[in-house]
Amino acid sequence: MKILVTGGAGFIGANLCRALAERHDVIVLDDLSTGRPANLGPVDVDLQVGSVLDPSVLRRACRGVAAIVHLAAVPSVPRSLEDPRRSHDTNVTGTVAVLDAARDVGAHVVLASSSSVYGRNPVLPKAEGLVCRPSSPYAVSKLAAESYAAAYRTSFGLETIAFRFFNVFGPLQAPDHAYAAVIPAFASAALRGLPLTVHGDGTQTRDFTYVDTVVRVLAQAVTGRTTSETPVNLAFGTRTSLNDLVRLLEEELGHRLKVRYRPPRRGDVQHSQACPDTLRSLFPAISPVPLRPGLRRTLSWL
Ligand code: NAD
Repeated sequence: MKILVTGGAGFIGANLCRALAERHDVIVLDDLSTGRPANLGPVDVDLQVGSVLDPSVLRRACRGVAAIVHLAAVPSVPRSLEDPRRSHDTNVTGTVAVLDAARDVGAHVVLASSSSVYGRNPVLPKAEGLVCRPSSPYAVSKLAAESYAAAYRTSFGLETIAFRFFNVFGPLQAPDHAYAAVIPAFASAALRGLPLTVHGDGTQTRDFTYVDTVVRVLAQAVTGRTTSETPVNLAFGTRTSLNDLVRLLEEELGHRLKVRYRPPRRGDVQHSQACPDTLRSLFPAISPVPLRPGLRRTLSWL
């Protein structure tokens, strides 16, 4: 099967490509804004450097593909607060471009949305039917992207499925930039003997999902040409506070860690926990890698 992965040189994309390339022809379209060719390691993929916003580049990348996994995005709340327009262009206009390209070649589309769409809706766990109250430009862009996918399904019969990723973590996730996700930031600081920075009081909770679990779901969705009328949460309904995450890291490393508390960040939500019922019904054979072994593998990668 010939599969295009947009954003395939990024964290989730490269993990996915490494798995898909064992059995399929994989094309990666990535502008390398946050992704790195080295993430793809030694696997045999056709890396095309360019933007999903460039029509001729996108058309070439889509030639003959049966499926597109669309992960390319400006994937960060703080970046979207700094430059909402850029986040809109890449995440929304870029998605419309990918959906149009998929229509042209009859490809199935698997799309990355985000738990951030639930935003200020405080209800837990987050079931897909909840009212979305996005609180950052990033969250709005993801809600728009998944809504476009649904509209292309209804309007043009395009086969799509949008997954709402929660906090994905694991190897290849960059630990060393200003917008690093919490697990690589904590783990990297802990390994270097630096204090861990917690924004807020650390009681906020997240539904952490190990990247191999995400890769299994995405790969199965691609090969099974799975579609869904509504977006699907991609997390298994666990809930860990940042303070508990610090404690887990202390247990894994065998010593106390220094933590400094800073004011909460704009756009961050307080609690996040998926209702996994739809995911479990679509992918009953997949069980998640739990947090502790996932953390252990991440620490040994760092
Ligand atoms: P990432 O930054 O590692 O990957 C994004 C990739 O997209 C990068 O390789 C980047 O270079 C590429 N890219 C950006 N703009 C592009 C463009 N115009 N054309 C082509 N490529 C472009 O981030 P990630 O964590 O791997 O995220 C992958 C997807 O999952 C994103 O859509 C993100 O919004 C979504 N997501 C991730 C998480 C998470 O916890 N990591 C949570 C929710 C949603």
